Formats: sequence, C-alpha cells, structure tokens
Amino acid sequence: MAGTLIVLGSAQDGGTPQLGSGAGVGAPRLVSSVAVVMDDGTTLLADVTPDVKEQVARLGRVDAYRQRSSRNAVDHITLTHAHMGHYAGLVQFGREAHNARALPTWVTPSMASYLAANQPWAALSELGHLDIAPGFGPFDLGSGLHIRLIPVPHRAEFTDTVGISINDEVLFIPDIDSWESWPEAEAELARHRVCLLDATFASLDEIPGRDLTEIPHPLVTDTVGRFGHLAAERRLILTHINHSNPIGDSNSLAAAAVRDAGFEIAADQMTIPIGG
Ligand SMILES: [Zn+2]
Ligand SMILES: [Zn+2]
Repeated sequence: MAGTLIVLGSAQDGGTPQLGSGAGVGAPRLVSSVAVVMDDGTTLLADVTPDVKEQVARLGRVDAYRQRSSRNAVDHITLTHAHMGHYAGLVQFGREAHNARALPTWVTPSMASYLAANQPWAALSELGHLDIAPGFGPFDLGSGLHIRLIPVPHRAEFTDTVGISINDEVLFIPDIDSWESWPEAEAELARHRVCLLDATFASLDEIPGRDLTEIPHPLVTDTVGRFGHLAAERRLILTHINHSNPIGDSNSLAAAAVRDAGFEIAADQMTIPIGG
C-alpha cells in the first residue's frame, strides 16, 4: 500500500523562534516530527513534540487522514528518545482527552522503562491511553506499515536514542552526536530512499557564550561532505534545525551551498509520496 510522508516540524526541540530569543533565522518552524499516512488512513506519528496539537491538526490537510473513522488522533506513535522536544507532547494524551485509547506506542525498552518510572507518563499506560510495546522491531503495524528502531549515539541522559526506519524507505534521525561515532551510518542511509537527518548546527560559534561541544551534533558541512555522494540516488533532507542555524533562511548562502550539494532543507508541511 502507498502513503504520504508529511514533515510536521523541522526545528530543534525549542522550535523557531525559541521562547524569548527574538525572531530566529528564517520562517517559523515547529519542532521536528514526521508522520506517515497510508492510503487507508492509518497514521503513524514519529516523535510527539510540544507542538503536537498544531501538528496533528495540520494532518487534516491530507485526504486519507480526513477520511479516517478512528477516534484516536493517530493510530501509532513511535519516539526517538526522551529529550523534551521529542516526547513531551504526550501530555496531550492524558485523562481528559479522548484522542488515545490503547494507542500502540513503539519504543525501545529503555524508553518504555523511563515512561513507566516517571509521572505524568506512567499514568498514560496505567490508564490505558497508551499501549507500550518495547523493542527495536522490526514491528509490523498493519496496513503496509513496518518500522525498525535503530540505535544511534546521542547524549543518553534519560534513555537511549534511535533513528526510525519506516518501511525501509524513510529514515528519520533528528538527533545524533556525530556520524563518525556511528559506524553503520553510511550503510544505513544507503538502504533508504528518503533520509531526514540531524542538521541542528552549521558552526560551533553559532550561539554566543554557549559551548556547543557540550551538546554535540554533526555540523551541516560534515553531513554534506560525508554523504553528498549518496544524494543522486535518494532524497537527503536536513531537519532538526536550530533557531540560530543560517540554513533556516532559504535565501542564505549556507542554504544555497547545501542545495548545490544535492541536499534539501526540510520545511514544515513538506509531503513526499512513499510506496506505490
Ligand atoms: Zn532534539
Ligand atoms: Zn536529543
């Protein structure tokens, strides 16, 4: 079965602009997240951000989503890790809400333990809103959807971190410390037709007064140099863009250099047909 990939957000955890930080670079962006809506309406949400209400509302622009009969806001969720921008939107699936009944939630054992050990998250499964399935997959979600959770190196303060492979076609890696610390990076990218990759920072002096080596991410130039040779055969899309990153402005020289190298810069509401 075919479907549609929708980029629901393309900013780092704080969004663009960030709270109290002025305008930020380029147009506003919601926090990074993607959804896949299959042609029968079955909908997978990958990462549940603080912007989830607006993001799910925007799914209404997709015909197959509008035609769903389910009361649940989405049919499946999966999470990359427990940094705030990636799961804190789960607060919207709480007791008074009618948008989640036994909602299949595909997460690593580490993430499942974290959600079970900490409120308010523990109540979500205790009350039957979320049906948490720990593991790394492959998970068969039905309706032609399957996912794998692929461990990647990233600050493991609360949980491990994964990239999410959807139907062996889409690879979503919003956060990773560096490419060289993940030996399988190139082989895993090469397996997918659409890769959405961590592009948090373009340079180490991007936020004055902050030591960016404490919050490591691959620099955009490293990502482009390392994987540019893969661009001819697949879509390489930069996402999780910090509010300070010049590629956030599509008219910038930095953005032009990225495009010249065959990469794309994620935009909220970007849609890409998959399968079929
Ligand atoms: Zn993040
Ligand atoms: Zn993170």
